[in-house]
Amino acid sequence: MSKVFDLFIIGGGINGAGIARDASGRGLSVCLADKGEIGGATSSWSTKLIHGGLRYLENYEFKLVRESLKEREIVYKIARHISKPIPFIIPHTDKIRPAWLIKFGLLLYDNLGGKTNIPKSKTLDLNKKFPNILKEKFKTGFQYYDIQIDDKKLTKLNAQDAKKNKAKILEYNKVKKAEIINNEWVISLQDKKKIKSKVLINASGPWINETLHKNIKIKSKNKIRLVKGSHIITKKLYKEDVAFTFQNIDKRIIFVIPYKKKFSLIGTTEVEVKSPENTVISKQETQYLIRSVNNYLKKQIRKKDIVDTYSGIRPLIEDFKEASKVTRDYVFDLNIVNKLPLLNIYGGKLTTYRKLSEKVLLDLKKFLPKTKKGPWTDKKKLF
Ligand SMILES: Cc1cc2nc3c(=O)[nH]c(=O)nc-3n(C[C@H](O)[C@H](O)[C@H](O)COP(=O)(O)OP(=O)(O)OC[C@H]3O[C@@H](n4cnc5c(N)ncnc54)[C@H](O)[C@@H]3O)c2cc1C
Repeated sequence: MSKVFDLFIIGGGINGAGIARDASGRGLSVCLADKGEIGGATSSWSTKLIHGGLRYLENYEFKLVRESLKEREIVYKIARHISKPIPFIIPHTDKIRPAWLIKFGLLLYDNLGGKTNIPKSKTLDLNKKFPNILKEKFKTGFQYYDIQIDDKKLTKLNAQDAKKNKAKILEYNKVKKAEIINNEWVISLQDKKKIKSKVLINASGPWINETLHKNIKIKSKNKIRLVKGSHIITKKLYKEDVAFTFQNIDKRIIFVIPYKKKFSLIGTTEVEVKSPENTVISKQETQYLIRSVNNYLKKQIRKKDIVDTYSGIRPLIEDFKEASKVTRDYVFDLNIVNKLPLLNIYGGKLTTYRKLSEKVLLDLKKFLPKTKKGPWTDKKKLF
């Protein structure tokens, strides 16, 4: 008789890999399949920050920011070798947000997550501190810290640890079909093999509804909007090891972050798209990012300074707000199909993947009687 796994996960992005690690470490048998490389999609196209999301405070998302700040502490502790804190400077410009609002936001940001080893925010004299980087008209700045991480590596480390815990991790093997036969999920893979499982998790990121409709043949309850976010990469724009948070007239923010020693990473944009496939930056997005940087920096950049670009897709739950106002929190959609559980995971952030994985196992507890232990991933280092 062929093996019946406790858990089958569609998608090896940070969410799928995080769940595979957590579940396999609790003694569950896990199989995960990705149609491409582990961490090869959205989870390597992010801004690469483990952050509370200062900006979300403006949308009153205190719960999300608190959870993210707590996770920032934990992820920094368990993945210190692939992450580092960097100071972010917000140059003050009265036209966009008043100074008191930013200071109030930073006070919350410093305290919402509880005890932290990450330095607190402060006000800076920009003309003294960065006379060569910013235009002179930006006199005051606000400094806070967040964590920069290698997003793809984080995903791969989770998958590797799951493998050490005996999980079966399959790459370049698309899930073609998932159906219930004789009281078990039967998953048909691209290589024609069939895998059996008691629980099915759909963690296919921006492909979530496509997987649900085309491969599992179930109608989704949640409508999503696919919102593209693009980055440009230039040669290092300044030598100091600081990042900048630039406010734009449309109230969106753009980060300029030191990247891989020799480069600056600049992003991101928000553009609604129809499909998660073949995402590339548009001319308008490139211009938007260049304009944003040139509003602030003395050194002006042009299209020819761009050495690389990448774009990723956010699957945002449709709630008919502007893209920047739609929640970045995750949403679980648990379905019981002929008595078997199917959990669809919508959205989320790189930052909260670990907590998300814990919550998945909590929500599925009654379907996973072989679970041998409780939460553990906040303590064990990722190597
Ligand atoms: C531009 C941008 C910037 C971001 N910046 C940040 C940031 O700085 N910090 C932060 O915390 N978060 C950030 N995020 C959010 C974060 O990147 C995502 O929440 C996270 O990567 C989503 O992971 P995932 O596992 O859900 O999706 P993905 O990483 O996309 O993984 C889904 C996987 O499913 C696979 N798949 C799909 N269909 C199938 C199928 N039928 N069979 C098998 N496999 C399948 C895909 O190949 C893919 O690898 C950003 C997102 C974007 C778009």
